[in-house]
Amino acid sequence: MNTYSCILILGSLQLLQVAPLAAFAVSGWLISVLPLIITNMGTTTPETAFSIVKRAAIFVIDGVNHLFWPAVCVNCRETISEMDKNLCGHCWDQLLCCAGGDYCRRCGRDASVFGLLGGRCPDCQGKEIHFDRIARSGVYSQSLQQMILAFKSSRTELDSVLSLLANSALEGSDFFSEIELLVPVPLHWSRRLGRGYNQSQLLARKLKHPRARISTDLVRVRRTKAQPAMASPTARARNVAGAFAVRRRHNFTGRRICLVDDIKTTGATLNECAKVLKHAGASRVFALVLAVAGQNVN
Ligand SMILES: [Zn+2]
Ligand SMILES: [Zn+2]
Repeated sequence: MNTYSCILILGSLQLLQVAPLAAFAVSGWLISVLPLIITNMGTTTPETAFSIVKRAAIFVIDGVNHLFWPAVCVNCRETISEMDKNLCGHCWDQLLCCAGGDYCRRCGRDASVFGLLGGRCPDCQGKEIHFDRIARSGVYSQSLQQMILAFKSSRTELDSVLSLLANSALEGSDFFSEIELLVPVPLHWSRRLGRGYNQSQLLARKLKHPRARISTDLVRVRRTKAQPAMASPTARARNVAGAFAVRRRHNFTGRRICLVDDIKTTGATLNECAKVLKHAGASRVFALVLAVAGQNVN
């Protein structure tokens, strides 16, 4: 058999996905038979033998998986090690440039803690904000912006990385322990049908919280224009006014809620959602976003 034939057979095996089945079968055999053989050799107890063989089987499965389907960076598709948490080193460096940083806990804009007056930054002084506090993962620029745009354009596998940032922001917020319900900002049904999913809901599902559960009882009842096309904060607020409602059998009364969204620009959408939730009886409404955009928009 020549080299070409070998490559052809190996390629066919990969196509048929035989490798993981073979690894599974071999591992099953190893786990069931080898402990007995080792024990019969009189070198160890059955429990220790079983533990050794189990570790060896896991090693075999990981090795076969990595050989045929190596882990790749979810952003640039470079091959990575299993320990790299879904992104290559370069993409992590790029992404972390846009993450973190001091921000105003009332509106999410970049702000130093020394620049706040009564807990408000210069940008949100005098503004009417219906959500009580906000947590953000970063600013909407460069790598984080590209990744969020890709996430909204069918690259749903990016939720693994974006949720790491979102969980970190949520855990670092001062309202983490208060949250009872996570409410993703809803899309209009027609937009959701077109996209196939609501990115905020995917993100909410990946959030780790000991008690909070997801509620989808906040709905968008009117299709609005895409917010980036709107010129001013006033126009944005007008665009979303009356666009949200709660379902008749909602359970928001007296609850502490955290809205979940991908981007906050002027905050008109989050503000409108928070207003509707409070009108429905929510006692507190917080917000979690992946990124805050438009740092220079007034
Ligand atoms: Zn990468
Ligand atoms: Zn502010």
